[in-house]
Amino acid sequence: MNLSIDIKPISASKIDTVDFDNLAFGSTFTDHMFVCDYRNGQWETPQIIPYAPMEMSPAASVLHYGQAVFEGMKAFKDDNGSVWLFRPEQNAKRINASAERLAIPQFPEDQFLEGLKALISLDKAWVKSGAGKSLYVRPFVFASEAGVQASAASEYRFMIICAPVASYYGGDVRVKIADHYSRAPQGGTGYAKAAGNYGGQFYPTQLAKNEGFQQVIWTDAATHEFIEEAGTMNLFFRIGDTLITAPTSDSILDGVTRKSVLSLAEHLGIKTEVRTLRVAELIEASTSGALLEIFGSGTAVVIQPIIGFGYKGKTYETPLSENSYALMLKQQLMDIQYNKAADPFNWRCKVCD
Ligand SMILES: *Cc1c(COP(=O)(O)O)cnc(C)c1O
Repeated sequence: MNLSIDIKPISASKIDTVDFDNLAFGSTFTDHMFVCDYRNGQWETPQIIPYAPMEMSPAASVLHYGQAVFEGMKAFKDDNGSVWLFRPEQNAKRINASAERLAIPQFPEDQFLEGLKALISLDKAWVKSGAGKSLYVRPFVFASEAGVQASAASEYRFMIICAPVASYYGGDVRVKIADHYSRAPQGGTGYAKAAGNYGGQFYPTQLAKNEGFQQVIWTDAATHEFIEEAGTMNLFFRIGDTLITAPTSDSILDGVTRKSVLSLAEHLGIKTEVRTLRVAELIEASTSGALLEIFGSGTAVVIQPIIGFGYKGKTYETPLSENSYALMLKQQLMDIQYNKAADPFNWRCKVCD
């Protein structure tokens, strides 16, 4: 693969048309996008070009068989105007783990990181500093080959697009624990950020929304007895003073925020346990008062407190307390992300000044 990136910058930025204080999550995009095509068994010279709609064959394989994977990460601006990514090498590795599961060719990790830095540097004016503001970065790969034969494609497109965002969720989040629908079976694609994993969740999530919940907590597909994760968040449960999260498996996404929360919690002297958790144990802990907090972790939300859950028609409350682990860990993580605190783990990666 050619190491240089072919850059065709925009002639005039559209940034002045954007109201950065009123952004719906992930619906406004920056001036440029990164594009790299895979043909004849290799990745061609990557390009950075003006963000725009693109032409695609109606027979493009992705539209028929869903061969697509993606990543989600954020860039942050510190008070000196420098721009940082958070553990981007983790996303570079993970998109390839996802790609492998979907029979998509590997994208070289150094090219992934270089492409990210070049694109974000070019669009750095779109990374705003200030409370909760960041640039959401969405790398993805899809099968672009025209043809409806049901087999792995031979042509792909790797892209990165960027969306300036404020914070992800507003308001309180209550979740419904799944007792019928499943997100990911054993041996399936749950550990991959594969497009189809998400499309399949929208209907059960809509049903949960009709019942007054914002999200679904997925349980294992075989028995629905074990807690797995939420739509795009891993989950933590504070029972007593111990923070519990499920072990990653082939049905659970190995979240970068999840592993960062675990490291940070251990660093702060909070007891953590990575183990399976039964729904029955959760209900019991809630009833006895031992369940003090539930929160989700993911790039978009960082940490999202969950203030209640429903299971088989009953609801359980987990109100947010002032000395919650969720708020404390969120603050500490964000302080590292925004270069406001020391970074003992070397998680920050500078993009540009
Ligand atoms: C992306 C995602 C997460 C969170 O991963 P992060 O790397 O922390 O953003 C958790 N669960 C699912 C299903 C996801 O898609």
